[in-house]
Amino acid sequence: MLALLSAMPEEAISLTERVKNPKEHQFGRFSMLQGKLFGREVVFSSSGVGKVLAAILTSHMIERYSPTALLFVGVAGALKAELEQGDIVLGESLVQHDLIAREFGCERGQVPFSDLRFFHGDKRLLELSERISLPGITIRRGRIATGDQFISDSSVAREISSELEADAVEMEGASVAMTCELYGVPHLIARTISDNANESSKLSFEEFLPLASKNACSLLEQLFAQLEE
Ligand code: SAH
Repeated sequence: MLALLSAMPEEAISLTERVKNPKEHQFGRFSMLQGKLFGREVVFSSSGVGKVLAAILTSHMIERYSPTALLFVGVAGALKAELEQGDIVLGESLVQHDLIAREFGCERGQVPFSDLRFFHGDKRLLELSERISLPGITIRRGRIATGDQFISDSSVAREISSELEADAVEMEGASVAMTCELYGVPHLIARTISDNANESSKLSFEEFLPLASKNACSLLEQLFAQLEE
């Protein structure tokens, strides 16, 4: 069983439409859809926006379904000029950009009094995903910075990018990745670039959701085809 997650249902609509023999389960405010997608047993759910909801849902799905891996799809703001709308950043490393406790000698993103800072996407899932080609789209690995903040200010974006050497910014990835790592579940966070994390972000973000969900769907279809049984 593979667990699939998104923040908003719109980010994964192309996927959920294709789930065969869907069964629904409820956990509080979350609905889970279990069925077959591209020939594989999956369970899909959307957390809503932000780190807390994403972490709660991730841990519930792992406890309830014992997935062999967890894949998160969604959109993100680009922090690098070469990334264009539609490109896909695969989370090689993920970090919480809004966890700042310099008073304790911690670097940005470090959980105080621990060695938790960067979380790492599964090597094999990264390699397989990098081989995928989608017309006109660059798919590459990178560092994803996560925080409970929609970034639409270019100076804030520049600061996150330079302090953390991050490629993309969003609001769930690092919390999902940390939860998976604490449970020992391999993960891949795949983010389609929707905006530039600057003053024009909100508009481009909303216009772009349908295309992002199609990209996510094509990526997973090709990734599933390469996975062993
Ligand atoms: N629907 C809301 C916005 C949702 S927040 C509205 O209409 O205002 C945006 C979602 O997309 C989050 O789940 C986050 O992970 C991602 N995202 C896309 N661009 C982002 C950016 N520039 N900064 C932070 N998160 C971004």
